[in-house]
Amino acid sequence: MVPSPTQCTTQITQREPPIIHLALHVIVPAIVAGLFYRKAWLMALAVMMATMVVDADHLLADPIYDPNRCSIGFHPLHRIVPILLYGALCFLPKTRLVGLGLMIHMALDSIDCQMTNGVWYQ
Ligand SMILES: [Zn+2]
Repeated sequence: MVPSPTQCTTQITQREPPIIHLALHVIVPAIVAGLFYRKAWLMALAVMMATMVVDADHLLADPIYDPNRCSIGFHPLHRIVPILLYGALCFLPKTRLVGLGLMIHMALDSIDCQMTNGVWYQ
């Protein structure tokens, strides 16, 4: 059976469930730790996991959690100037893991923005 034209124009919005977004915040750093910090992968993963504290800036928002809100460009620690700083941390050996953890976090949040709102940042 051939679908009618109205059936073909139905907009389908892709939305990853929040649990997948949260899981990626663990899985992606774990892959980076496994690939690039083989001998100290647990320490590398722990440091990158600790950078999730950057989400403390969500506590300043009302509501604290809004599944349809793009965090990049909205929350104070998810704006362009801090993100540039996180990128700079990647170039210094002593702060590289913190920078990597933060940049992975921002990239995943930005992908979430793209999937929920069709933008990389707001
Ligand atoms: Zn975030």
